[in-house]
Amino acid sequence: MTERIQTAIVTGGAAGIGWDIALRLLADGYRVIAADLVPGRTAEQPDVLWRELDVTDHAAVSRVFDGIAEEFGGLDVLVNNAGIQRHRAIEDLTWTEWSAVVNVNLNGVFACLQAAGRHMLPAGGGRIVNISSVSARGSAGRAPYSTTKAAVIGLTSTAGAEWAARGVRVNAVAPGYVDTGVFRQGIEAGTLSLDTILERIPAKRLAQASEVAAAVSFLVSDQASYMNGQTLYVDGGFMVDYGIPLAKKPE
Ligand code: NDP
Repeated sequence: MTERIQTAIVTGGAAGIGWDIALRLLADGYRVIAADLVPGRTAEQPDVLWRELDVTDHAAVSRVFDGIAEEFGGLDVLVNNAGIQRHRAIEDLTWTEWSAVVNVNLNGVFACLQAAGRHMLPAGGGRIVNISSVSARGSAGRAPYSTTKAAVIGLTSTAGAEWAARGVRVNAVAPGYVDTGVFRQGIEAGTLSLDTILERIPAKRLAQASEVAAAVSFLVSDQASYMNGQTLYVDGGFMVDYGIPLAKKPE
């Protein structure tokens, strides 16, 4: 009997970090579906399937997830990767900007997690990885982003506990600064300073998207079979150092 190929959905999987996650899961042997607003990089690799999805459209999330599960005989892995950012001081932030980030980064993550769970729980198994960020600890100029990324950690630990006994493992990956097109645009626009960022990172370099994808690959694999509700930081040591070195070596 031939074994069923496992199906993985990566939201926002047609660009950036999500694209690297999609390619990594494809290499791991999954049928991979990038659920994204536009086909993006899926045009480069037809083995990564594209399904149009706006994660803020609650009805569409259910419809697309149900359709994928029906078409491929189940849903095994979800990577909740779609996320957006709005840089602005709290006092200047518009309600539209706040809501846009909350809708994608939190409401979208919840809608997809719930829709996936509704397939995985009756099947008795599944793995979900939510993408958070080191910004979850708080970061000036990023109020909606930091707030939603912290909330994703809370949702991850809650769902991880709630579904553990039913075979559905939910964990999170929190990347530090990743060398993506969006990041480079921030550098070019002057909203981000590469020197300041590198100074703050103990590893003194940015992450590659493939390094984030490797952590996702681990968490959805059987190697992580006893991990539930955890957040794995892929951040070059960012979270373990509060960033104020000694002014000089002691005598
Ligand atoms: P990108 O903007 O490069 O990619 C995000 C993808 O999500 C894009 O394809 C985007 O589509 C898609 N997307 C945006 N809104 C929606 C939506 N409503 N429904 C479906 N898809 C959507 O971002 P990154 O690759 O940099 O980030 C990926 C994840 O990693 C995010 O959750 C981000 O917060 C997180 N992260 C990123 C870090 C970094 O340094 N880059 C650091 C820490 C965490 P489109 O391009 O058409 O808008």
